[in-house]
Amino acid sequence: MNRLSYDLHIHSCLSPCGDDDMTPANIVGMAVIKELDVIAVTDHNSCKNCEAVCKWANQYGIIALPGMELTTEEEVHVLCLFATLEEAMRFDRYVDSKRNRVKNREDIFGKQLICNCKDEVIQKEEDLLLQNTTIRFERVYELMQFFHGVMIPAHIEKNSNSLLYNLGFIPIDSKFRCVEIKNMERKRELLAKHPYLEECVVVSNSDAHTLTDIHEPLYKMEVRERSPEAVMEWLRNDGRR
Ligand SMILES: [Zn+2]
Ligand SMILES: [Zn+2]
Repeated sequence: MNRLSYDLHIHSCLSPCGDDDMTPANIVGMAVIKELDVIAVTDHNSCKNCEAVCKWANQYGIIALPGMELTTEEEVHVLCLFATLEEAMRFDRYVDSKRNRVKNREDIFGKQLICNCKDEVIQKEEDLLLQNTTIRFERVYELMQFFHGVMIPAHIEKNSNSLLYNLGFIPIDSKFRCVEIKNMERKRELLAKHPYLEECVVVSNSDAHTLTDIHEPLYKMEVRERSPEAVMEWLRNDGRR
């Protein structure tokens, strides 16, 4: 077994709320300095910086899962992670067709920068990525089956944009097997209150919007080999049932 440190919730300069210096090369560089083994860049409703992130990660020998922080119709944030860039970009195109669109106001929300593999800004996303989509929470699991991804309801205990806050409960027919808790000190309390979570792998990530907020190697996963597929297997948590 391999014990790998991870931070699976990092925003790049494509998220309006992410710092402009959260470029793909800078994020990977910081992850290398912090000695993380696995990262995921998860911008709001977009995977368009993932190609550059994966390329830099490959160069530096760390694993980067391409991902997205999807905003459902109910404004619940869900991390959607993929083993391959192709699958992520297929999902990105699908989400593009489901986004509620208003123009971004850079002066209010910040820039939404797309970078190429040389870490140069090549494009700006014109429509605000913080808007919700028309994808309902209950549909995300089957979408992840279809696109070969894994869903992780994000920061479930947060007082905004979370499963427990926005929906207020865990739907009885839920099938997800991984959740993100922001504050791991609340894990025991949350598991006691929501027995469903006993079935889940519980992860905690930085939700970094600045380079310094990217996690130190605090949290680890045990995987059969050092590969994106093995990381996805661990996140899918198939063995539990
Ligand atoms: Zn969020
Ligand atoms: Zn986030």
